[in-house]
This record gives sequence, C-alpha cells and structure tokens, in this order.
Amino acid sequence: DLALTSGIGWHLHATSDAEAASTELSLASDLDDAIATGDVYPLYQPKKNLRTGEIASVEALVRWNHRTHGMLRPDHFIPLLERAGRIASLTLHVVTCAIRDVERWRSRGHQVTTAVNLSATLLESTAFIDQLEDLIRGSGVDPRLLIFEVTESAAMHAPDVAAAALGRFKSLGVAISMDDYGTGQSTLTYLKKLPLDELKIDRSFVEFAHQNRGDAVLVRSTIDLAHELGLKVVAEGVETEECLKFLTSVDCDLAQGYLISKPIDAASIAVLLDIGARQAA
Ligand code: C2E
Ligand code: MG
Ligand code: MG
Ligand code: MG
Repeated sequence: DLALTSGIGWHLHATSDAEAASTELSLASDLDDAIATGDVYPLYQPKKNLRTGEIASVEALVRWNHRTHGMLRPDHFIPLLERAGRIASLTLHVVTCAIRDVERWRSRGHQVTTAVNLSATLLESTAFIDQLEDLIRGSGVDPRLLIFEVTESAAMHAPDVAAAALGRFKSLGVAISMDDYGTGQSTLTYLKKLPLDELKIDRSFVEFAHQNRGDAVLVRSTIDLAHELGLKVVAEGVETEECLKFLTSVDCDLAQGYLISKPIDAASIAVLLDIGARQAA
C-alpha cells in the first residue's frame, strides 16, 4: 500500500523498476485533477508561543487523499512531483489554500501567520518566483501574514540564488524561516547572509534535549546565537512535557509538535483559535 510505506518501501513493494516508474508517472499526471477535485489540500500545525501560550502561527502541511492509493503524505509525492516538474503547480495550490484560510481565520477575528514549505528547486526558477509574487499581490492578502519555510540544505544548494529569491519575498513583507536547522552543513554565520526571520531546530536535536547533555548544549547555544542574530527560534517535534519545559527554560520562542497539536484541518484551527481567544479574554 503506497500510503503506508516509505518512499524506499514503495519502490521495494513495486515488482519492478518499470512498475515504480509508471506509478510515479501516473501519480504526477493525476495532480491537476486531484487539485481540481479538492483531494490535495493542506492541514495546519500550530506553532505555540512559549511566553504567551497562544498560537502565534501555523504551518501548512500538504496531504493528498488519492482516489485509489488512499491518504498520501508529502514524503511520498513531493520528491516525485519535483522529478516530474510539477512541484510549482502543487506549491501555488498550497499557497492559494493558505491565503484563503488566513482570510477565513481573519474574518473570525484571528490574526495568525501561516507558513508554507518551498522546495529547493523552486528558488532557482525566476518564472516560479514571478508567479508566486503575482499570486500574493493579486490575492490582496497582507503578506506579513505569510511565512515561507526553506530547508537548510535547499538554501545551501545555491546560496546566492536562494538569497536573491528569498529577498524578493522578504521585500514584499513575507517572513522567511529556515527549516530543519542542524541537519545541513551550514553554520549560522553563513546563514546570516540569507534574509531570515526564523530558525526551526530540527526534531532530531529537540527530541532528547531534555535528557541528553550534548543535544541540550546544541539547542541552547543555537537559540542564543539565533537571538544574537535577531531570529526567532522554533523547536520542531515536541512530543513530551519534559521537552517543552526544557525549551521554555532555555528561552526558545516557539514550539511545534504532537504534544501541542498534530496537523489538523483549517476548521479545527479556527476552533483552537476561538478557544485561545476566550481564555485570553
Ligand atoms: P517539515 O516542514 O519539517 O514538517 C514537519 C513534519 O514533521 C511534518 O510531516 C509533521 O507532520 C511532522 N511532525 C510534526 N510534529 C511532529 C512530532 O511531534 N513528532 C513527529 N514524529 N513528527 C512531527 P509531514 O506533514 O509528513 O511533512 C513532511 C515534510 O514534507 C515536511 O517537513 C516538508 O518538508 C514537506 N512538505 C509538507 N508540505 C509541503 C508543501 O506544501 N510543499 C513542499 N515543497 N514540501 C512540503
Ligand atoms: Mg516545514
Ligand atoms: Mg521541519
Ligand atoms: Mg523536519
């Protein structure tokens, strides 16, 4: 079952390379129909402000409820859409959904910034950057309500190109976040060249930081250095109270993870925001 196996597992389950390749091609060619019928859509995972306790922002995480393969997670279709040259279409769709949902939350009285993940290859396409900029401008959304997340390895693949592309969004008012920080090869000093607002520390460092001295030192010093550089820090993959406590003690700004919430649909985010507003009142 495509939905339940990993990318590698899926290739192992296919009886031949040819079969895997044809499944891949047919998935990529299903994309436009799937978008049109609403089978491809984002869920949203909150980022919680550790000082105020409120949901400061949410991250869009795309899902594909495929008519024959069932629910697919992004790790199963993003790489193949990249190979098939379809990742721009997917991304424009996710941003369109995110803008619609930001406006819906706003009409209920909630100002919540929304992050969308951008693939590395997209930053190298001027045509895509133009399209995305047109989409944002044309929608009338306040660009300050949007964040683009790029992974460290994506940005470091061609740092000057990435910096130029991200700079264009930044000058529109969109915030830029470095995703999965710590898994790539870059140093924070190097990242300083990118127009960043936020740093997301990868789950692999966060997970055991409350019990492993080495991870604790890494997380604490990354937070301190990021703050020196004027960046907000998000810890990814927070699953336990102990972990959350540790992060609060080292002055981490935001936390995201199953402890706080799994990715949920836009209507459920609205309910969470309503509850938060009632508690604050
Ligand atoms: P990411 O941006 O680093 O997102 C975090 C992933 O970790 C998400 O997986 C999320 O559901 C999962 N996660 C969140 N909290 C926890 C936790 O406490 N424990 C554990 N074990 N996992 C947690 P998901 O939704 O499967 O997304 C995987 C990756 O796919 C994302 O990693 C992102 O790089 C990519 N992706 C998602 N949506 C898009 C998209 O619209 N466009 C592009 N280009 N990539 C996307
Ligand atoms: Mg992300
Ligand atoms: Mg991440
Ligand atoms: Mg990650």
